[in-house]
Amino acid sequence: MRIDIITVLPEMLDGFVNTSILARAQRSGLAEIHVHNLRDYTTNKHRRVDDYPFGGFAGMVMQCQPIDACISALKAERDYDEVIFTSPDGEQFNQPMANGLSLAKNLIILCGHYKGIDYRIREHLITKEISIGDYVLTGGELAAAVIADAVVRLIPGVLSDEQSALSDSFQDNLLAAPVYTRPADYKGWKVPDILLSGHDAKIKEWELAQSLERTRRLRPDLLGE
Ligand code: SAH
Repeated sequence: MRIDIITVLPEMLDGFVNTSILARAQRSGLAEIHVHNLRDYTTNKHRRVDDYPFGGFAGMVMQCQPIDACISALKAERDYDEVIFTSPDGEQFNQPMANGLSLAKNLIILCGHYKGIDYRIREHLITKEISIGDYVLTGGELAAAVIADAVVRLIPGVLSDEQSALSDSFQDNLLAAPVYTRPADYKGWKVPDILLSGHDAKIKEWELAQSLERTRRLRPDLLGE
């Protein structure tokens, strides 16, 4: 999978792209993440990418020209499954959406800034708008990082134990069961006996019961209750 992220703050993503799960996926050749500085695509001699909004509103708006130039240059090289814009009024990101996007070959993620981007870009070039939650961030970089992380870890082979992605919270609409590691007794805080019993079937049963109980208690909405 290839992900192209378009931003006015590439340095905000550099560390993330080169250290996290994304770095591992890139090392093993399973993903390629390219970060593009929007300012490299502007025709403005001062490298500006924003201007005042029509209508006299407050704030600045990202202009069509550099965004169009960047997206067009990328599209000239390959076909994209989705051109995503990160936006608080987009569809709320969740695990099913991450699962769907993990099947894509090429994705563009455009990060907004200031008051957002000229709406004509959203009408003509964007195919999917994603919000990471009901709050407003200063820019789309953190949202792009969240989306890229959640999607790339689902590509088979990226996680060392592929099964572990399948047993995470939200797969099957259930929260994950609690997990424990050595020692079995820490300051008198004990690991549930069943996990030390070696009865695989009973342990699986316990895991499912825990998942159901925690989902019912913490996120009944996932069970449609
Ligand atoms: N005026 C806009 C918010 C602009 S915030 C509005 O009220 O909708 C600046 C940029 O940060 C946005 O264009 C978007 O790219 C990003 N952003 C802010 N909050 C976000 C969220 N919850 N999810 C995804 N992107 C977000």
